[in-house]
Amino acid sequence: MNSKLLLVMAIFVASAMVIMAESSRSQKTTHHQELTETNLKIIKRSEWNAAKPIDKSPLNSSVPYVIVHHSASPPACYTRLACQNALRSMQRTHQLVNGWDDIGYNFLIGADDDGDGEIYEGRGFGVKGAHAPGYNYRSIGICLIGNWSESVPPQGMLDKMKQLINYGVEKGHIQRNYRLHGHRQVKATECPGKALQAEIEKWEHFRRASRATKR
Ligand SMILES: [Zn+2]
Repeated sequence: MNSKLLLVMAIFVASAMVIMAESSRSQKTTHHQELTETNLKIIKRSEWNAAKPIDKSPLNSSVPYVIVHHSASPPACYTRLACQNALRSMQRTHQLVNGWDDIGYNFLIGADDDGDGEIYEGRGFGVKGAHAPGYNYRSIGICLIGNWSESVPPQGMLDKMKQLINYGVEKGHIQRNYRLHGHRQVKATECPGKALQAEIEKWEHFRRASRATKR
């Protein structure tokens, strides 16, 4: 065997190994996307032209609860522009009408790109929200923009919510054994809508009642 042939064979074997590694990695990403999401795309406040927060209170580094909400109104937004408008409108209401420091939720999810979903930064991690009295100082509040009483949100939005929660766990903002609640479980409200509530009740971390005492 001459050296040229050896070189060609070596290149062939090396490329085959690279291709195999790539394909196994992409399979892993598909199957374990929720657990390996390290570079989650989150649309920053500056990208939706958020107004400045009036004030900020820090949140415990690792919270035991995730509380799910819907906006009811504004309705679901299916384009970036519509979602940005929905976010700004909610922020205006929360700051100017409710008198809160900022948009109430830590994160919001829109149905951008026909349901693929995008994650928007509200108050973000590490900042106390205003979305569930008694739980604000120990939870992350996520709002799925739209009214999800009659229909479940598009799968893309649900996937984004799972990825966001797992990202929060991975980065230490949410406890590993967190409890998932719909807003209606901690307050007399329709939120997050009957259909969305029924959906999250099937999720692994959903807990029917909170054992911790309300404060
Ligand atoms: Zn709510």
